[in-house]
Amino acid sequence: MNNEVMAARDLARIWHPCTQMKDHENLPLIPVKKGEGVWLEDFEGRRFIDGISSWWVNLFGHANTYITTKLAEQAATLEHVLLAGFTHEPAVRLAERLCALAPEGLEKLFFADNGSSAVEIALKMSYHAHLNAGEARPWFLSLSNSYHGETIGALSVGDVALYKETYEPILIRNLQTPVPKGPTEADAREAAEALEAVLKRRGDEIAALIVEPLVQCAGNMHMYHPLFLTLAKEMCARWGVHFIADEIAVGFGRTGTMFACEQADVRPDFLCLSKGLTGGFMPMAVVLTTDEIYGRFYCDYLEQKAFLHSHSYSGNPLGCACANAVLDLFEQSDVLGENAKKGERIDGWLSRFADLPGVVNLRRKGMIAAFELEGFGPEDRVNLQIFQKSLGRGAFVRPLGNTVYFMPPYVITDGELETLMGAVYESVREVVV
Ligand SMILES: *Cc1c(COP(=O)(O)O)cnc(C)c1O
Repeated sequence: MNNEVMAARDLARIWHPCTQMKDHENLPLIPVKKGEGVWLEDFEGRRFIDGISSWWVNLFGHANTYITTKLAEQAATLEHVLLAGFTHEPAVRLAERLCALAPEGLEKLFFADNGSSAVEIALKMSYHAHLNAGEARPWFLSLSNSYHGETIGALSVGDVALYKETYEPILIRNLQTPVPKGPTEADAREAAEALEAVLKRRGDEIAALIVEPLVQCAGNMHMYHPLFLTLAKEMCARWGVHFIADEIAVGFGRTGTMFACEQADVRPDFLCLSKGLTGGFMPMAVVLTTDEIYGRFYCDYLEQKAFLHSHSYSGNPLGCACANAVLDLFEQSDVLGENAKKGERIDGWLSRFADLPGVVNLRRKGMIAAFELEGFGPEDRVNLQIFQKSLGRGAFVRPLGNTVYFMPPYVITDGELETLMGAVYESVREVVV
């Protein structure tokens, strides 16, 4: 079996996510045969470093032996049981550990099986919690340039026009307020003022504010100051608006702390987690919330205040086993400390990129680094150029428009980081010079 045959069989049947399928008339699909650590390998033995953790899910490498073992053990013991009326040890242990790890005050955990569903759950729970307390708040509030997933509710609170525009007539009610436009405290204060103005006008109609703390990843890795979160949380509390932290992308150490909210000392009312949760092994998500919100649904059955939301694979034991293994790996070594050192090496590379013409806005937050390429239009498809050139040099990156970014698995070694950033450096140089 070679790449070409595999790709042809695929294209005969599979409709791919986030893809104009016609592109594949010219752009070869890449059949991946196996993964090991940061490396992916195709059917012809070509290897390349996964510089974006396969859409930000992988933390400890592909086919990580520890997670694999835990997953296999669980599969041989109990692969799945419904979570309504039943429970199992991996779910209980995971819930205990995540509540202990999360910002204080998050005492209850609800399971979902992907990030968008976690966002849907937080939105529904927030609206419903207000309703159960006798308040109708049919609006949500989110930040400009935000991304929260692509199911209808999640899409409604997002602001990536490319994904959203087409579906505008069928979306739910959402207001938007500006994200801090840059990384400074002054930018944070300016955005907080705009938020306050919206809350003054509409605060009593809004169920929740949903934010991606510190980094709007799908929004071209836009980074902002933690002060905004501190101010926003405080204002939300004043207007009785819930604060939903969507840490689906930034959770589990990505921004340098276990959860990004910690850097603003914010205790959200809802915390959505997915992506890194299982280290990239199983589709799973969770929503953590407070005892106070949980209490608003707790009553005699006939009062009909229960949260009757469910997914077939809620709390899947295989997902829980992987997530528990991920937490073990965080406990077994100083992952965040090691990442901090890797961050310094990444900074060294960023300063080299800075010397290239047209490379602007170099920035890093934890294990996310990004910059923009100036002076290219959509017709240049500079993202495809960088993708293809880098791949030829053994590195896989997938720029968002003109934003080139790195979000490697945490297990990347110094040597592998050199290979990754060096390959992209040469590719960017070819494009801009
Ligand atoms: C990826 C992502 C989601 C959606 O998660 P899916 O599992 O892809 O549905 C939601 N919010 C943020 C911030 C994300 O990065």
